[in-house]
Amino acid sequence: MLTFSNTLSGKQEPLNARPGSEITMYVCGITPYDYAHLGHGRVYTTFDVLYRLLTLSGYQVKYCRNYTDIDDKLIAKAEKIYGDKKQFIQVANQYIQAYEQDMVQLNCLEPGVQPRVTDHIDQIISFIAQLIDAGKAYVARDGSVYYSIDTCPDYGKLSKQKLDELLVGARVEVDTDKKNPLDFALWKAEPAGNFYKSPWGYGRPGWHIECSVLARTYLGEHIDIHAGGADLIFPHHENEIAQSEGLFGAPFARLWLHNGFIQINKEKMSKSLGNFFTLRDLFEQFDPMVIRYYLLSHHYKSPVEFAFDDVRAVAKSYARLCRTFADVSFDHSEPLTMDEVTMDPVTDRMVKFLADDLNTPGMLGVLFEALPTLYTYQHRKKTIKKFLQQVMGFSLVPLPVQEVELTPEITELIMLREQARTRKDWKTADELRDRLSLLGYNIHDKKV
Ligand SMILES: [Zn+2]
Repeated sequence: MLTFSNTLSGKQEPLNARPGSEITMYVCGITPYDYAHLGHGRVYTTFDVLYRLLTLSGYQVKYCRNYTDIDDKLIAKAEKIYGDKKQFIQVANQYIQAYEQDMVQLNCLEPGVQPRVTDHIDQIISFIAQLIDAGKAYVARDGSVYYSIDTCPDYGKLSKQKLDELLVGARVEVDTDKKNPLDFALWKAEPAGNFYKSPWGYGRPGWHIECSVLARTYLGEHIDIHAGGADLIFPHHENEIAQSEGLFGAPFARLWLHNGFIQINKEKMSKSLGNFFTLRDLFEQFDPMVIRYYLLSHHYKSPVEFAFDDVRAVAKSYARLCRTFADVSFDHSEPLTMDEVTMDPVTDRMVKFLADDLNTPGMLGVLFEALPTLYTYQHRKKTIKKFLQQVMGFSLVPLPVQEVELTPEITELIMLREQARTRKDWKTADELRDRLSLLGYNIHDKKV
């Protein structure tokens, strides 16, 4: 049974779906105005493992991840680069391409559908019109359309904030005619001729409306899982709930999953704070699989305090996995089945950790505990390797050989083995080879 910690209820809840049934999953995608950073890597790697786990568990997963290809930041960048804000789509195209390369490097599977906002303007306009008809939204004097928070008494339920508390903190914008300072834009008015034509005049969609519209278009009015980074809980996901539940009733999503931040010196890693590392910068220093392994060595909900030394340390663990499984090969078109996983005591324990709120560090703990036993249970390696590749998404392609510093213990074992081989004591030589393999060193004898 799969259970996940649901931000909405604050509890760990079962997925409650029959194996074989369809699961709809929506993950908020990027705004492609710059290269993706490690924080993005964490979101999409986390929910890639969820996607793989659901698939292994026998669900037909419909996975949608959008591209916010029109937005204030994109427009500002287009003005800066091209001197023309209408060139925002060029900026988006460039960074979507870069992001897709990053996702390939991180071995994240492609979602079934990756819609772009600008391809769905008609659907967005129609959704907004329905919200106006339902009395949930209104048109302001300048032609902008706002969602009316006063029609949404449970607003704040995801982020556990009360409406009156939110009102105290709300910034009153003097240049709009919002009825309530918490009302948010569904449509942003622009001078005539700019961007898109709507029944309310020229303009462009606000940020939040796209996810309600795209989820509805590709997954339906009510979805099973909605996920993203914890920074999206408020206001983005709160606003998505207001929009979708405003039209279709509750719940918009049954399970809301959010991953924790990456911090540097106790501050959130973000573009706006300027304390971030892009994935491509990190890939110059580390194998992308090491970055994936680093991200998954933390529980997705915990904050990660980023440190280069920690990445270097996990690189050794990952390299050890690559070495351990280097001698196992199988037909890669052969998908792992849940029966195979549960029949093996090691993978059975591994999958139980993942089923318990995606506990990837717990799963890795089981794996490393089992590694020393694997040389006597060679047959188990195939299932474990398939699990690591197909569920955890580790390629396990051996990392380029680096200078390894041999400890005195290892040097002694190698020497003893050489002596045993010289006196043709093959039994001792084999035992010593096994001991070395247990310590993560595979010895290959070459004829000279
Ligand atoms: Zn969203």
